[in-house]
Amino acid sequence: MENFETQAIRIQTERTQYDEHSTPLFLTSSFIFQDAEDMRASFAEEKEKNIYSRYSNPTVNEFTDKMVKLEGAEAGYAFASGMAAVYNTLAALLNSGDHILSCQSIFGATHTLFTKYFSKWNITTTYFKAGKLEDIEKQITPQTKILYVETPTNPAIEILDLEILGKIAQRHHLIFVVDNCFATPYLQQPIKYGADLVVHSATKLIDGQGRVLGGVVVGKADLIREIYLFSRNTGPSLAPFNAWVLSKSLETLAIRLEKHCENAFKVAAFLETHPQVKTVRYPFLRSHPHYEIAKKQMKLGGNIIAFEVKGGLEKGRHFMDHIQLCSLSPNLGDTRTIIVHPASTTHSKLTEQERLAVAITPGLVRCSVGLECIDDIISDLKQALEA
Ligand SMILES: *Cc1c(COP(=O)(O)O)cnc(C)c1O
Repeated sequence: MENFETQAIRIQTERTQYDEHSTPLFLTSSFIFQDAEDMRASFAEEKEKNIYSRYSNPTVNEFTDKMVKLEGAEAGYAFASGMAAVYNTLAALLNSGDHILSCQSIFGATHTLFTKYFSKWNITTTYFKAGKLEDIEKQITPQTKILYVETPTNPAIEILDLEILGKIAQRHHLIFVVDNCFATPYLQQPIKYGADLVVHSATKLIDGQGRVLGGVVVGKADLIREIYLFSRNTGPSLAPFNAWVLSKSLETLAIRLEKHCENAFKVAAFLETHPQVKTVRYPFLRSHPHYEIAKKQMKLGGNIIAFEVKGGLEKGRHFMDHIQLCSLSPNLGDTRTIIVHPASTTHSKLTEQERLAVAITPGLVRCSVGLECIDDIISDLKQALEA
């Protein structure tokens, strides 16, 4: 049972006495013990047993176990959201005085966490540009503990070379953390390139149907142990119901991703030839500046496209106002095609300068290509561009 699709479907909590076929949902906050000794031994971790759902829960464990296998990791822990995963992972491992080295183009809330909140605890962050990985060793100090990246980045769709980064992290004994949200383990497995930890917002392509929030971290067992011990006290655990939804979603991840990527490639190719479009960024278009790296480390190009409509901010907004089928929404990785304008929404908390540094121009539009009929997606974009 080594193949991706089979693991995503067949890993399941042990069958109960009812012989259910589909996976059950253990909607319970706590668990019972046979006697005082059973309870003592469970709390002492002398036996592996669920105690309380802030620590662990069979449905949550099923989702985590699948993610561990699919990413090729040793262990994992699941969270109520992607940001809970990012925050608790780093907060568990960092001490006052530590330094994070991060790629410049990262999710808006992660950027806010690093610059606004971690600095309160004397944890500093410096950023490096996606295209200049040779330079990052100069930014490493004795205090640097974490190398943090996203690839593809949100929303600029830059690709970072995981192999190079993995070697740098190893050479300098940094904990290499990759947010693999845009690729999912179906397209890219950062651990193969030396990532110590992989974080996800399961809210996106893993749920894939815009229903629940969730997050997960997987990776080296000793690091996950520290994150687990921290998190069972801070309380960001994933709800069993959401875990059940996400575990069911993983059953269709591979087949959904195939179609998402096929549709996205067609949309990207259409946009690239449209006279009203200034630039298009999609990893598997030859025009992408990091096309070779994308081909090396990704199975397919993903479902997110960044493009700029000719005429800047005003034209970008005009285009959005004429969209009929696609949704204007901050989510991504849904069955529905979604359009967002990062400068005025997801990345509005950044300064104009910070936005430009991460390639978010005022007119940039991000499109998360869904699973609708490709002809309908393209004709909606076309009519809005020509309106
Ligand atoms: C959405 C997202 C997050 C945060 O996840 P939530 O589930 O919304 O908390 C983190 N990283 C990336 C790349 C994201 O797209």
